[in-house]
Amino acid sequence: MTCREGCRKFYVFSRNWRKVKPMKERTLSIIKPDGVAKGLIGEVLNRFEHAGFQVVAMKMVHMSKKQAEGFYAVHRERPFFESVTDFMSSGPSVVMVLEAENVISRNRELMGATNYKEAAEGTIRREFAMDIEKNVVHGSDSPETAAFEIGYFFNALELVRL
Ligand code: ATP
Ligand code: MG
Repeated sequence: MTCREGCRKFYVFSRNWRKVKPMKERTLSIIKPDGVAKGLIGEVLNRFEHAGFQVVAMKMVHMSKKQAEGFYAVHRERPFFESVTDFMSSGPSVVMVLEAENVISRNRELMGATNYKEAAEGTIRREFAMDIEKNVVHGSDSPETAAFEIGYFFNALELVRL
């Protein structure tokens, strides 16, 4: 095979490969201080693993007030900002990066609506939350938010490549 032929074959292969290879996406998930305090780490992880999400990074953090304010900075003008950042810095959380196809929206489905009273049957918040604020889990809501949130807690070396 000439070099020219080889290059062409490789080009065709890589174009087709891109078409068949599923697009994996990443999201940041947090088991919030109420979830950790209620002993729900295993329960939540179990749901993620059953859904086929792969954990590519995970650690336990006890955020300071400042760190919680930085994380929820998009909400700084909201009336609940003071309270939610007090809550998020009130105890340890488990922060993790999940990887799967469409994981951002699939994780939000597993979590359920912000307000547990409006969350669908069988979702994490519907089953375990007892308060609109203390709602067990966090999940990124868009690819842009996910990129910011993952970088907030993890550096490149801490993210496993699957
Ligand atoms: P999260 O960002 O934690 O995944 P979410 O995207 O469902 O939750 P947001 O609107 O981003 O909801 O609110 C962030 C968090 O702030 C909520 O998860 C909840 O802990 C708290 N929060 C939201 N709305 C209220 C409210 N009306 N009263 C008290 N706390 C609230
Ligand atoms: Mg949100």
